[in-house]
Amino acid sequence: MMNKPAPEVERATTQLGDMSAEEFRRHGHELIDWIADYFERIEELPVLSQIEPGDLKAQLPASPPERGEPMTDIIADVDRLILPALTHWSHPSFFAYFATSTSAPGIFGELLSAAFDVKSMLWRTSPASTELEEVTLDWLRQMLGLDQGMTGFIYDTASVSSMHAIAAAREGVEIRIREEGMSGRTDLPLLRVYASEQAHSSIDKGIITLGLGQRALRKIPVDDQFRMIPDALAEAIAEDKRNGFLPFCIVATVGTTSTSSIDPIPDIVPIGEEHAMWLHVDAAYGGSAAIVPELRHVLDGCHRADSLVLNPHKWLFTPFDCSVLYCRHLDLLRRAFSLVPEYLRTPEQEKVRSGSDYGVQLGRRFRALKLWMIIRYFGHEGLAARIREHRRLALLFASWVESSADWELMAPSPFALICFRARDSEGLGAERLNELNEAIMHGVNATGRAFLSHTKLHEQLTLRLSVGNIRTTEKHLKQVWDLLNDQLKKLTA
Ligand code: PLP
Repeated sequence: MMNKPAPEVERATTQLGDMSAEEFRRHGHELIDWIADYFERIEELPVLSQIEPGDLKAQLPASPPERGEPMTDIIADVDRLILPALTHWSHPSFFAYFATSTSAPGIFGELLSAAFDVKSMLWRTSPASTELEEVTLDWLRQMLGLDQGMTGFIYDTASVSSMHAIAAAREGVEIRIREEGMSGRTDLPLLRVYASEQAHSSIDKGIITLGLGQRALRKIPVDDQFRMIPDALAEAIAEDKRNGFLPFCIVATVGTTSTSSIDPIPDIVPIGEEHAMWLHVDAAYGGSAAIVPELRHVLDGCHRADSLVLNPHKWLFTPFDCSVLYCRHLDLLRRAFSLVPEYLRTPEQEKVRSGSDYGVQLGRRFRALKLWMIIRYFGHEGLAARIREHRRLALLFASWVESSADWELMAPSPFALICFRARDSEGLGAERLNELNEAIMHGVNATGRAFLSHTKLHEQLTLRLSVGNIRTTEKHLKQVWDLLNDQLKKLTA
């Protein structure tokens, strides 16, 4: 005999409208309990997903269900199927890439934003989103110690924020690219953007997307601390000018991806100003540190930058995604992107700010809500205390590396990222030492108890340990240190 379908399923399948309010409340409470339990037991879960490629797909039906299914079954499958296929970014022993984390007020903000489901395109489609974004980003600007000339916009990622900054910079060159494009034109010189060899690949991608071509990006060498060399920048610009090229934008980084180095912005500013170039600062990772009063100096010189990107979804406990672009020339950003067809014209358009005028997207998510809730819940002091603690933990780890005969530091640590590796105590030579360090990393990651990533510095495989998770404590650092030493012993026994 067939089981009688649950009334909830019957209703979902055969009747119109959404889930009933009563069921929504019940499942909503269950789901919040589920999330609270998830955070309570997260340390028991392997931080790096242990599944093999294709494992999840093999367990999912190839076609969609004809009839609705009970919410409880769906949530049970999140437990059974989705959870094992997750790499847990919220795990306190996630030290890879740039460690990040969500936070409770941020999750609530996302929940509400999904309920409101506004498309923040025009002021009138989303007055709350538009105005809260302005106010929240001004609060953040004050916390960072940036000047009032910087106005913020939220985009999804730093890649997109930087692409918009470079587009605004190009608009400022007055060569009618918006109207006429670049292809088929013989009147245009080669346009050039400058960034260090350590700049993030998002700058390359922005340049590709804008149709400038990869040859438009000139990579400037770095010093022994992985910072752009200002003299090399000045020489490159002068050489390009002699060749008839058009240098128009410099991208400096505060917190490069491999080592978190900081380009010397105070020395770069006058070079940009001498040639009337746009200075964009990629502070996607490192910028958040400036909310800590004693770390504010990391943004030194930025009061003369034209734009700056900072990702609250990296180190400000904001659930992905949320990237803030501060820009000093909103007129240029607007000129590059504003396009108002008749069906979007509104009586108030001259008096208000509409997000769609400042980017490629029309509809935008209500991301300001979660950031506003996070800043209100923790306060400037609470946020700064957490970032300060991450730095303390990272430096503590660095001190263990430094005082050990088996390990060495590979780069300075201005934030909370430590670059290190096992030393060549046994005369392995460069190649085998790289292999040893890679094997150590994979060995640690395979335990499921910590997750590290790597980079290459001067061809040397370097392990990266980034502290940025709101749940990380000294205990987790000690644990990963023990795991690293166990692996080293095992592999060199
Ligand atoms: N810039 C820097 C310095 C980064 O480290 C990253 C990512 O780690 C990005 C940009 C790109 O960030 P997103 O994923 O927000 O595009």
